[in-house]
Amino acid sequence: MKLKYYGTGAGYGIPEIFCDCRICRHARETGGKNIRTRSQAVLDDCLAIDLSVDTFHHSAFAGLDMRRIHHVLVTHNHHDHFFTPDMFTRARNMTEPVKIYISEASGKGVRAIVERNLAEFEAGTRDPEAWTRAEVHTLEFYKPTKVLDYTVTPLRARHAEAVEAMNFVIQSKDKSVLWAHDTGKFHSDAIQWLKESGIVFDFVSLDCTLRRGAQITQAHMDLDWCIEMADLLRANGNANGNTKFAISHIGHLVDRTHDELEREAAEVGMIAAYDGMEIEF
Ligand SMILES: [Zn+2]
Ligand SMILES: [Zn+2]
Ligand SMILES: [Zn+2]
Repeated sequence: MKLKYYGTGAGYGIPEIFCDCRICRHARETGGKNIRTRSQAVLDDCLAIDLSVDTFHHSAFAGLDMRRIHHVLVTHNHHDHFFTPDMFTRARNMTEPVKIYISEASGKGVRAIVERNLAEFEAGTRDPEAWTRAEVHTLEFYKPTKVLDYTVTPLRARHAEAVEAMNFVIQSKDKSVLWAHDTGKFHSDAIQWLKESGIVFDFVSLDCTLRRGAQITQAHMDLDWCIEMADLLRANGNANGNTKFAISHIGHLVDRTHDELEREAAEVGMIAAYDGMEIEF
C-alpha cells in the first residue's frame, strides 16, 4: 500500500489567516513543509480520505486528480474534512459518480443535496451530464464495508459525537492502516474492537493537533497522547516493530515548526507528516 498526504493541517491550516504567532510567521517566511492545508489523503491512488475545503487547492496546485478517484471515505463533516459547496458544480464528462462513505449524522447534508439533484435530473430541470453525480453510502460503527478491494471498518472517534466522527481501519489482502484523526484518546469500545480484531497494523496515522502537555480538549491529541496510544496498540498486539507511526492534523496550536516537530517525533519513533508526503508500507 502507499498513502499520500495532501493536507496535514488542523481546522484552519498553517498559517492561520489572521494569526501572528511564531509558527504562522515562520510558515509565511519559509513556506515548504511549514505550510499545512486541510485534511486529505489518498491510498493507492484510488481511495481518498476526506474531501476538505482545501480539495480545490490540492487539485489545482498539488497534482490531485479527483477525476480518477471515485471513492471517498469521510471522517466527519467539519469543513476541514468535508466541504460540499465545491463538490456540486457543473461537472462535465464525469466517467462515474463519486461515492461518499460517511456516517448517518455527518452525511445528512450531502444526502439531501444528492436527493434533490436526482429529483431534478428526473424532472429534467437539471442536466445529469453537466453536473456532479454522487452516491452516498452510510457507514456504521464497527460494521465492515467493502470499498473497492479494501475492507473498511469505522471506529467511534472521541470527537464531535453529534456528527458521529469516525476513525477508519482499512485492510487490503495483506496490509492494514489505522487512520485516527480527528480523535482524542481512543474510546474503550474502539480499543476493545481493535484488540479482538487481532489486526497488526502496517501503518498508523494519529491526530496531533495540540501542544505537548497542553491538552485543552479531549477531542484531539498531543504527542504524549499519541505515544500513549501507540504503546497501547503495541501492548494489545495491534502494532509491532514493523508498524510505522505518523502524526498529522497539525495546527499552529502544536507550537512547533515542521523541523522541530519532525525531530521531536523522530525521538519517539514517529514520522511528522507534511503536505505532499508519500509513504509506502
Ligand atoms: Zn479536523
Ligand atoms: Zn498562528
Ligand atoms: Zn473535526
